[in-house]
Amino acid sequence: MACVVVAATPVTKPRANSIPVEPIEVIRESPRASPIVTPINPRPPHADEKVAAGTPEVAPGWGNAKPLGVYAHESLSAETYASQLQVLNTARQLIEEFRQRNAPHAAPADGSHEVSPCTSPYRGGEGKETKRRPSGETGWHSDVLNIVVDHIAPNTPTELQIDIDFVGVWDVEITLKVKAFGGGLFPLLSVLHEADLVADFLPRAPGLPYLEMVEKPYQFANNDWLYHIFVTPWGPFPGADDIHSTLFFDLFDDPEGAILIYAQSPPVETKVFRGFELPPVKSWRRVRNLLLGASTLVRPSSERVFTIDPPTPTPGRCASPHCGYRVHSNLSLGGGTHCCHRCAHHPGRHGPRCTRLPHDTTPASQWETAQHGCVDVEGYFRVKLPIPRWLIPNSLLRWAVPKLCRLIYPIFLHLNESYDSFPFAKRVEEDERGFYRSIRDRLSSYAQCHSCSS
Ligand SMILES: [Zn+2]
Ligand SMILES: [Zn+2]
Repeated sequence: MACVVVAATPVTKPRANSIPVEPIEVIRESPRASPIVTPINPRPPHADEKVAAGTPEVAPGWGNAKPLGVYAHESLSAETYASQLQVLNTARQLIEEFRQRNAPHAAPADGSHEVSPCTSPYRGGEGKETKRRPSGETGWHSDVLNIVVDHIAPNTPTELQIDIDFVGVWDVEITLKVKAFGGGLFPLLSVLHEADLVADFLPRAPGLPYLEMVEKPYQFANNDWLYHIFVTPWGPFPGADDIHSTLFFDLFDDPEGAILIYAQSPPVETKVFRGFELPPVKSWRRVRNLLLGASTLVRPSSERVFTIDPPTPTPGRCASPHCGYRVHSNLSLGGGTHCCHRCAHHPGRHGPRCTRLPHDTTPASQWETAQHGCVDVEGYFRVKLPIPRWLIPNSLLRWAVPKLCRLIYPIFLHLNESYDSFPFAKRVEEDERGFYRSIRDRLSSYAQCHSCSS
């Protein structure tokens, strides 16, 4: 398994001169006749083939950027390279717009708080605070909800910061920063790639929204597909029946030093998107949410997944009084000292993922450690709201966001520790389109490159 614990790359601004100032546009690509998913090139890659390196000959303007998970043998058409480059430029432009706006007013990192409309740090063009967004007839006061979640899981340095900027009655701009996400880059990419497994992977809790189903109805290339996502109705929000076009780029050799994921929804009323006939929204309780643009940078981090090490060579006996079970072999589930977190706090009671192995009569076991390292995540999302701003209580978001984080994050930690026991590992083994092999090659060359230079 590729190890992605590598030196952190300093965040550098993308080169300004590489970002054309164009409005965000729908991806243009020649329509395909059939909506049936067919492999671009079913031939598996040979062992000596490498990921498209440097500037592809047919792709002027790419510099060191590459489509992620695409082998040279796939030889995407010049037309595909050109249309993907347009998307890459759009994605970078979106990041640059957010960064420029956020730059003069760094968000406070000391706990969550709201910024009232009167002191809203809407960043005007002159770098001054502006109380009113020049939005024409609505005269909407920009308001920002800032939520910081730390202590997401025990013994981890992970922290999440989310700034939700309601820039209009129906418009929101979200800036997301996650420090030291312990899901690991490779497992995270496999979760994104094997979309049909995600709904069963993620937990559900009463009172919180959850993913009902995710599909990939069409894949245009190894780094380019459609998501079809169903989310339950929740609070004032209708259920989601979303379609998002998503592309993955390898910017490890560029100033970003990251994987860039860009998602955008087909415009409203679109019936056929890039040759794919879009299914109608399934029921009146659902809406098709619109991502106007969503750029996410995922960067390997030098942070450790856990702030603790296994305290003994092999898992010992649970530290709770009168508990005869073995300490859980995953640090995420037992903290290295207990059979499960429930028993640590309420001795003798056990959670659903406690293995309940009697310590004295079970053969010794090994620790299952997080093999895939940490990532830092930066997200910049421009979204059309399905309901107007005034129907969305801040208190609801401030309650739900930390709850969701603390519900979902331990599952990703467990994935990192016990990857081979999840169904994603089987898909990686099958690797029908050579996606994972190309990513492994890429990550190992990136890690080597960084260990040489550091
Ligand atoms: Zn116990
Ligand atoms: Zn237990």
